[in-house]
Amino acid sequence: MTFRYSNSVPKVNDNATAEIMKAAANPEVISFAGGLPAPELFPVKQMKEATDKVFDLYGEKVLQYAGTLGYPGLREQIVDIMKDRDVDSTVENIAVSTGSQQAIDLVARMLINPGDVVITEDPTYLAAIDVFKSYGAKMVGVPMDEDGIKTDALEAVIKEYPEAKFIYTIPNFQNPTGRTMAVERRKELVRIANEADLPVVEDDPYGAIRYAGEFLPSLKHFDTEDRVVYLSSFSKVLAPGMRLGWIVANREFMAKFMLLKQNADLHTDNLTQYIVSQFLKDNDLKEHIKTITDAYEHRANLMLKEIDEQFPKNVKHSIPEGGMFIWVEVPGVDTNKLFDECLKHNVAFVPGSAFYANDVKQGTFRMNFSNMTDEKIVEGVKRMSAAIEAVTK
Ligand code: PMP
Repeated sequence: MTFRYSNSVPKVNDNATAEIMKAAANPEVISFAGGLPAPELFPVKQMKEATDKVFDLYGEKVLQYAGTLGYPGLREQIVDIMKDRDVDSTVENIAVSTGSQQAIDLVARMLINPGDVVITEDPTYLAAIDVFKSYGAKMVGVPMDEDGIKTDALEAVIKEYPEAKFIYTIPNFQNPTGRTMAVERRKELVRIANEADLPVVEDDPYGAIRYAGEFLPSLKHFDTEDRVVYLSSFSKVLAPGMRLGWIVANREFMAKFMLLKQNADLHTDNLTQYIVSQFLKDNDLKEHIKTITDAYEHRANLMLKEIDEQFPKNVKHSIPEGGMFIWVEVPGVDTNKLFDECLKHNVAFVPGSAFYANDVKQGTFRMNFSNMTDEKIVEGVKRMSAAIEAVTK
């Protein structure tokens, strides 16, 4: 049988990243390539208690089909979480999604027709690039600096592509760079979007994982015209395997979102929504997040110190204030070649090329620190330094 696949299916040869992840999964390899939260911090005992309680309290109800937009009890708790993020919302503005990844997919499906332009930061989250491309989007990247997307460059891009469909941005501890958008840029981005009448998709899975600097209001906070569609997730603050994310948008948008969510999976896992809701009633989420941020702060600082001490002096890196990633620039080095050399030294990262939709900036790569012991951070950076030396000598 020869299947005639649709254009949505990524071309196999495009999937260099899958090959990288496969190579990095070898147990001999110290892998800074992944993007996993620290599993030893998952609240296993509390989730078990919450699960027992849910079955005792709600029985068969939680095993039944349920509403498409999600369990109202959990959505009410998300209203409170959003309040802590300086965003006013109501249950009607919120839907629970199967991870924020599903919300990215459904929002893309809602807005993109083949050939439409989507504006993103350059570099950006690679699974968002894949989704947007699967709907036939033409990706246009906007350069960043340490303060996030360059808003003057954004304005220029919008001038060139006034018909663009939306701006996709990750303002906090961006994947892959770890950078955070400065508050003035946030206001400016919303102003530019208002002027150009463009929707903004604000993807914020990491914002709560801040261990340095001060809280910055989201783009949604500055949104006076209901044009920001805000996405977040319990993946990084509780457990990614539970696949719970959420979307905050105006009611008209939510009505359309519901139609596509229904087509996709009728609703997000009802049992899991009840369990997380019970967890949030019985535990202090902020305290749990503090445990995570303390651990990540330590790991990030250790990795930065090792990089500063061991990598060549011309190497630059981001200094994240939260999240899980450090972005490294090694001028003049082909980081795909460096990746091959690193594998010989049993260490891995993700070459920057994976995160650029169009023109790749050479000499960049992403390192993850959240899922790593101190010993592995020290040893892994040492191995990488030897590999960098080998490719640059
Ligand atoms: N957005 C970004 C920027 C991410 O890095 C990730 C996961 N790594 C997601 C969305 C998806 O997360 P989830 O579906 O687990 O909520």
